[in-house]
Amino acid sequence: MQINPLFKKQGRKGAYSFILAINLMTSNKEDVMKRKFVSLVLCFMLVLGLSIPTSAAFEMPVEIPPPGYGEQYSTPENPFNFGPRADKMTPEQEKAAGIVDPFAGIQPFATVEKLCYIAGGSYTVYSTATGSTSKGFVSSRERVWVYNNNSNANRYYIRFLNYGTIDYGYVDKAAVKIPSTSWSAPITTGSISQDYSAGGHAGIDVAAPAGTQVNAVTSVSHRSRIYTGVLNGTTYLVNYGNYIDCTSGGTQVIYAHLSKFTNGTANTTLTSYRSRFTGTESISTVATFTPSAGAKIGEVGNTGWSSGNHLHFETRNASNISTKYDPYTYVVFPGVGY
Ligand SMILES: [Zn+2]
Repeated sequence: MQINPLFKKQGRKGAYSFILAINLMTSNKEDVMKRKFVSLVLCFMLVLGLSIPTSAAFEMPVEIPPPGYGEQYSTPENPFNFGPRADKMTPEQEKAAGIVDPFAGIQPFATVEKLCYIAGGSYTVYSTATGSTSKGFVSSRERVWVYNNNSNANRYYIRFLNYGTIDYGYVDKAAVKIPSTSWSAPITTGSISQDYSAGGHAGIDVAAPAGTQVNAVTSVSHRSRIYTGVLNGTTYLVNYGNYIDCTSGGTQVIYAHLSKFTNGTANTTLTSYRSRFTGTESISTVATFTPSAGAKIGEVGNTGWSSGNHLHFETRNASNISTKYDPYTYVVFPGVGY
């Protein structure tokens, strides 16, 4: 059993403080019960001290909250930021550029799978395919490149951020969720400013400068659409604002708050209503088109219920739109940081 040394340290400090506090309270020397209790605590600490391994080689840092779940994260400070390189290049591109050979040590069995994400929870990354030596951790919704190492049925070989440094190691397969599609990334730059949360935020927000290219995830019929509503006699761009949607395999995909469409003319004149609009809504379709997967379909904007330039990317059941899906189950955005 490994116990976080910080926990051990804090636990001891807390216990000794407690003993001190009890002793201070016990100014009455006749208070035998309290004395007995202090003795009991001391005995407990003694036992705890003996039972905790004293390996100093493994120093866990202070726990860092995982990214996501509706909170805003500033890109430079977040320790899980993928940095300038981790997602900008695929492992194959890195190898070609001579930066690193991600396949070293696992050839000839490994093949690159795709960018995946970590299932809920924190998992140990191991040094070897079958060993128990830890070399780091991955946390819930952290994104990792996954290689299928056929020499091991139980673990994937992954590329992950080991406290800010790109690293490679093995993780139990249960830790990894693999997106179900081979969709293109809807956006390849920016940072996730708000994550999906079941029952809460219905999509993933990627903050990016106005005009940043938004791409079709797959080659199906898309619609450029404008979402308006009337409030006190004035027409506003509301909710998704200028947006594009498509339906693929029973899933409706929405790219919202755009400034421009590649097909059709987005509305750039109406004022955006910056709260949720619940009045009578009106949606007009200005173009229907079928892009290639990965082709530019529009640009990031700040239209409708939005408070800054970003792409709101949403996936939901096309026949029951109140059922929202986690976009990561379809595509995990390479090139986008937290
Ligand atoms: Zn959003």
